[in-house]
Amino acid sequence: MPFYRHALAGDAAASIAQVLESPFLTTGPRAAEVEKQICQFFDVAFAKLTSSWTQGAVATLLALDIGPGDEVIVPAMTFVATSNVVKQVGATPVFVDVDPDTLLIDIALTRAAVTSRTKAVIPVHLYGQMVDIPALREAVGPDVAIIEDAAHCFEGMRNGRRPGQDGDVAIFSFYATKNVTCGEGGAIITNNARLARTLVQTTLHGMSAGAAKRFEGGRYNHWDVARLGIKANLPDLLAVLLGPQITKVEERRRERQAIAERYTDRLAQTPLEIPRIDNASVSAYHLFPIFVPGGKRDLALQILSEREVGATVNYRSVTELTLYKNDPMINQQSFPHSTIWGEGTLTLPLFPGLTAAEQDLVCDVVVDEIVPLLSTNGGATKRGVI
Ligand SMILES: *Cc1c(COP(=O)(O)O)cnc(C)c1O
Repeated sequence: MPFYRHALAGDAAASIAQVLESPFLTTGPRAAEVEKQICQFFDVAFAKLTSSWTQGAVATLLALDIGPGDEVIVPAMTFVATSNVVKQVGATPVFVDVDPDTLLIDIALTRAAVTSRTKAVIPVHLYGQMVDIPALREAVGPDVAIIEDAAHCFEGMRNGRRPGQDGDVAIFSFYATKNVTCGEGGAIITNNARLARTLVQTTLHGMSAGAAKRFEGGRYNHWDVARLGIKANLPDLLAVLLGPQITKVEERRRERQAIAERYTDRLAQTPLEIPRIDNASVSAYHLFPIFVPGGKRDLALQILSEREVGATVNYRSVTELTLYKNDPMINQQSFPHSTIWGEGTLTLPLFPGLTAAEQDLVCDVVVDEIVPLLSTNGGATKRGVI
């Protein structure tokens, strides 16, 4: 059983064929249609499709004039791209630990980490559950930009609010395994008109006009570069895959939720732990991570792999990865929840189209073969005493 099976909506081959017939292989009218659809879905003023979350984030940091000497607060429990992009613009990622129950960035620790150099914070809507952005805003004050890492959370909500509505900007990933995908891609959304104008430049070399605009009015229009940008645009060839999935996003979210609830029921009476989803949250259920106590995570991964069940790890604490672990500025002792979770977590398959029979098979392996290995040492199986 695979960890993930994509389910592109609509007739993907026919939509790509249509683009091949058109003059625009790169960014053009089809990308613009999807940007409009994203603006409507999130009720925001501006959306820009990008070639990935990562490129979108670098372009955003550049647009916010974040660079050497600046600090950006990031959670230790996330995918490494969240902190790498900060390094890529020459700024310093400042890690904070996560809440042990939700695994979301700890807001009190974030408040304590703000200094006069702090330019931004990147809250991660981990596994599909949104961070409480209004509470984060209250903690960091009005001058620290909130850049939401919404790579896991296209369809999630908290208190009825969606990504991008309360932060300064939110960034999505349409990478191959994400809930909405076109293989490689991403999007930036914001309500800030000034930031939006700057993003048009920083996502395209710094140029003042994109390919379509350069030939607007049937003639060639000169362009200029007033600031540094990167190349981060998404071609129409990939953009056409997104529209039909966005239309179906709520239907698919319910399917994901039903699968997550079945896992939760089957694993309820075991020592395995599952992150808490707050009552205020509607999760996008991007991933279904569990915590395997007693130092048995790698053994569990081995058993799953022998039974041909696709499982991954999301994630080992970023602060444990060599690039960061060797950084003398990062105090390894400061991230106990992220570190412990990262040493014990694994992720089970969760995708629309996963059948009940397939899910039963996964649960049987976990309950019949992995759980019995955990119950031998009683109290020592709890997280925090691994
Ligand atoms: C996938 C992911 C990214 C990076 O997305 P790309 O589109 O592959 O650049 C960033 N943050 C998180 C939390 C992710 O899961």
